[in-house]
Amino acid sequence: MSLTLYLNRREWFQHLEVMEERYPDYVPVIKGNGYGFGNGYLADAALHKGKRSVCVGTVEEARELEQAGSFDEILILTPVLTELTYEDMADNRVFTVGSSAQLDHLIRSFESLCQGQPSIWGRNGEPFCLSVLIKCQSPMKRYGFPLEEAGRLRSLLTESTQSSSLRIQVKGFSIHFPQTGVSDGEKERLVADWIREAVEWKLPTPRLFISHVSSSLYAKLRKNHLEIQFAMRLGTELWLHDKSFFETKSTVLDVKSVQKGERFGYKQQPAKKSGTLVFVSGGTANGVGLEAPVATRSLKDRLKLTAFWLLSLVNRHLSPYTYQGKRTWFAEPPHMQTSVLLFPEGSKAPEVGEELPVTLRMTTAHFDQCVERESEEKTEEKISQSQVADRHLNALP
Ligand SMILES: *Cc1c(COP(=O)(O)O)cnc(C)c1O
Repeated sequence: MSLTLYLNRREWFQHLEVMEERYPDYVPVIKGNGYGFGNGYLADAALHKGKRSVCVGTVEEARELEQAGSFDEILILTPVLTELTYEDMADNRVFTVGSSAQLDHLIRSFESLCQGQPSIWGRNGEPFCLSVLIKCQSPMKRYGFPLEEAGRLRSLLTESTQSSSLRIQVKGFSIHFPQTGVSDGEKERLVADWIREAVEWKLPTPRLFISHVSSSLYAKLRKNHLEIQFAMRLGTELWLHDKSFFETKSTVLDVKSVQKGERFGYKQQPAKKSGTLVFVSGGTANGVGLEAPVATRSLKDRLKLTAFWLLSLVNRHLSPYTYQGKRTWFAEPPHMQTSVLLFPEGSKAPEVGEELPVTLRMTTAHFDQCVERESEEKTEEKISQSQVADRHLNALP
C-alpha cells in the first residue's frame, strides 16, 4: 500500500545549488511536515549541501532534529511560551523573541533550570548562555518588537544580564515580510531602519535573518549594507520551487463493482449509480481531502467554490486523484489511509496495482514512501520513512 512521492533527486539537488547562487548563505527552513518530504529527509539534504545553520518551526522540532543531525545552529522561528527542559540548554539553540513576555518567559525558565542544577551552568564555570534572535515587527503584524521599543529592549537585555545567573547573547535580528503586498522600497526602508538600530547594539557579528524578499532585493541589500551579515530563510522556494522535480502517485488497492442502491463503505450509504468502486492508497492521515481555506479574489473563484459547495450538499466530492488526465469523484469521504472513488458504469476504471496521479498540498501531505529517481540513469531507489532516519544518520560526517 503506498502513497508515493517520486523525486528527481539530481535535479532537486541542482536546484539547491542554484538557490545558493541566488541567495548566498541562505538558511534552509525545516518545519511542519517537512514540506511533504519529512523533516529528517530535508535535514539530510541540508547537511549534504554543507549547511551548518537551519531554521525549525518549534522547540519540539528542534529537539527532534537535535537527535538526528549535528547542526552548529538551530534557529527556532516560533516564540516559545511552554515549559523548557535541560535538553533545551544545548549550545546550538537560538530562540526567537518578539515581545517582552516571550523574553521574560525564556529568562525565567532558564534561570529556574540553572537554579535547579547549578552544575549545569555551562562548562568552565561560565554561566549558561541563552541565545536569542530579536524579531522585528513587519507589516505581517505578527509578533515582533516595534522599532520604537528597540532602545528599551536593549537596556532590558543589559539589565537582565547583570542581575541574572545567565548570560544573554543576541545572535541577530529577524524580519519576516509578507509574501505579497509590500513593495521593495518599503522593505528596504524597514531593513535600513533596523540596521541603524542593530549597528548601535555593537554586536560582535551583526546578523539579519530575512524572509520573503526577491533575489535582486537580497543582492541589493547585501551590497548596500556591508556592515551586516544577511541570511535569507528559504522554505517553499527552496524545497518545492519547481513541481517538475517530483510526482505524487497512489496505488489502486482493490476494485469492486457496485449496483445502484447497493450499500457500501463506512457510512453504508446506497450507491447513487451503478459502476466501479476503486480503492486507492492515501487518506486523511496523508493529507487527502484536507484543504486550507482559500482567499478568493475574482468572481470566477467564487463561482467555482459555490459550484463545489452545491455539489457537496448532495454528497458529490471531487477527489484529488486523476485517471487518464481527468479528475475523479470520491464515492464517500476519505478515511485514514484509504480513499474510495466511484467510476460510473461505462467509463474505464483502473486496475489493481495501477498508479494514479494525486494532487496534494505539499505542506499538509504525508507520504508512505519516497522513491528517488536519477533522471538520467532511470534507476529508482525506494526508501521508507523509517529508512529516511537511518540514511540521515549515515549522512553525518
Ligand atoms: C516558515 C517561515 C519561512 C519559510 O516560509 P516559506 O513560505 O515556506 O518559504 C521563512 N521565515 C519564517 C520566519 C518562517 O516562519
